[in-house]
Amino acid sequence: MKSLYNFCAGPAMVPPEVKERLREDLIDWQGLGRSILEVSHRTAAFGELFERTRANLHALLDLGEDYTILLLQGGASGQFAMLPYNFLRQGSATDYVVRGYWAEKAAQQAARVGRVRTLAAPGDWDERAVYAHVTTNETIAGTALPEDFPQPPVPLCADMSSDILSAPRDYRRYALFYAGAQKNLGVAGLAVVVAEKEFLSHARRNLPACFCYLEHSRAEGLYHTPNTFAIDALYHTTEWMREQGLETIFARNERKAAKLYAELDRSGFWRPLAPKAERSRTNITFRLPTAALEAEFLAKAEEAGLVALKGHRALGGVRASLYNAFPEAGVEALVDFMRSFEQTHG
Ligand SMILES: *Cc1c(COP(=O)(O)O)cnc(C)c1O
Repeated sequence: MKSLYNFCAGPAMVPPEVKERLREDLIDWQGLGRSILEVSHRTAAFGELFERTRANLHALLDLGEDYTILLLQGGASGQFAMLPYNFLRQGSATDYVVRGYWAEKAAQQAARVGRVRTLAAPGDWDERAVYAHVTTNETIAGTALPEDFPQPPVPLCADMSSDILSAPRDYRRYALFYAGAQKNLGVAGLAVVVAEKEFLSHARRNLPACFCYLEHSRAEGLYHTPNTFAIDALYHTTEWMREQGLETIFARNERKAAKLYAELDRSGFWRPLAPKAERSRTNITFRLPTAALEAEFLAKAEEAGLVALKGHRALGGVRASLYNAFPEAGVEALVDFMRSFEQTHG
């Protein structure tokens, strides 16, 4: 198989060890003579996988027993709708910090359900808001919120799709947070939703069951058929993270981002897009002096096995996504490629 480095923002690279385990599971899961695709979610074997996956996440996120984890379909976008739908009532208000594309999307969906006030930065919170919402990492712009932003006086909710478990974070600050799994936690088709049980107890009960947090929570996450394959991928990804150790992963992520930003800051040829204080570790965005050079850069990079570096269509330019599974050697290969490109085109 061709070996390459895949910088895709999502669905993103999966660790090779995880792909190997998934390959085995696709043929014969746990020696049952059946694929993971063919096993009922009501079997004891699947129930065990489900509980181990949730326990792994619980441990990795360092949460207490006062939190519960739901593994739902509908991705992060499903949560843009489900969160306000479950917590806002007629006339009730909420604060959304909007500093990018995904926060804007989340706020727009909430505005269909309740009154949304948008804030340009965390702080100056409304004490009567039902909750406050932030997007910890803007995947398209490549910007991140600082970890020490002011805590709201109301329950704090967050979209962490592109930086969950990629760097140290106090998850206990949050009443509810969610992430699509296809960036840092495995494969598409799954939203990881983590909520404080006390906060969840205030959710609406009289909603259609499939879109009701309390219904999912009451059924211990198995209200209906979940995405069993994505849960298996999440299980192997969380096992891989525990084997590697979070400190090792976080330190590697730090080095990967530092190497690429150092190259971007080395020469005026590169034009990093995020303000220095807001630089994301997981999504690094930059431009070249002209659109023609960008097109050539992306084409030559692709030929060199550095694939999916094209920036999001809303922004253009170049984007390198460096989630947990992305190897350090891939960043070194990109930096080498950038240097020789600048030498011939700068
Ligand atoms: C990718 C992404 C989303 C959208 O996720 P889906 O699972 O496709 O709905 C939402 N928020 C952020 C921050 C993202 O990076």
